[in-house]
Amino acid sequence: MLKKVLLLLCFVVLTCCGCGKKTEEITVNTLNEITKRDEIIVGVKTDTYPFGYYDEKGHFAGYDATLARLIARGILGSDKKVKFVPVTASDRMMKLYSGDIDMIIATMSVTPKRQEILDFSASYYTAGQAILVRSDSNIKTLKELNGKRAIIIFGSTSESSLRTAVPNVGIIGYKTYTDAYKALKAGKADAIVSDDTILLGLALKDDSVKLLPKRYTKELYAVAFRKGSESKELIKAVNKVIEIETKNGNLIKIRNSFGIK
Ligand code: GLU
Repeated sequence: MLKKVLLLLCFVVLTCCGCGKKTEEITVNTLNEITKRDEIIVGVKTDTYPFGYYDEKGHFAGYDATLARLIARGILGSDKKVKFVPVTASDRMMKLYSGDIDMIIATMSVTPKRQEILDFSASYYTAGQAILVRSDSNIKTLKELNGKRAIIIFGSTSESSLRTAVPNVGIIGYKTYTDAYKALKAGKADAIVSDDTILLGLALKDDSVKLLPKRYTKELYAVAFRKGSESKELIKAVNKVIEIETKNGNLIKIRNSFGIK
């Protein structure tokens, strides 16, 4: 009887421990997945000229899209091996974590809060928050937005910084820059607060709005990845591309070609 009980005990223990087999560790390595797929999938903006937009042929264009093509060339040997997925400030992290995209290249600033849930590449550009108003506006500074209405884009850095800097501002949020811009022009708010680069893109061919000269923050743009070991090799590869393309002057040339200072 005792023998039987001991045998049963052994069986249960071995079954529960997987018969002594080593538990196979499932390690995801996004760079390996990309190499196997032979294509990188990148989230880019489509309404932030000149960083991410559709050109007249309907192709993804802009500095961010061009950087994505350089990364595809560096990792897979061809700038054609990239698939673009449109993202907004509010859905880019969700699309990254749902696996729809391998990385975000979308005017995304590195912030300590974001670093808690994302990993970032080296920075490839520095922008600054600024204010866009209608040309006939008397507003000159951020403080003058107190008691007024300002537009922010959901999920962007100005969504959090504006309320802290100007406690009595009325904040109106939009998902896209296109809608924010339309609302400003229609008089639904007094200003848009966001990155100078994006606001300049809106103001460039439109005399009815003006970008105020002051900059209120430093926004370090970087490529964003899912946080953790799965992204380690990919980040190394992306950083190598950024380093090479910075050293050989290519990134500056590309910026100049888009009129970015
Ligand atoms: N760079 C800022 C951010 O990452 C604003 C630009 C954007 O809307 O993406 O939130």
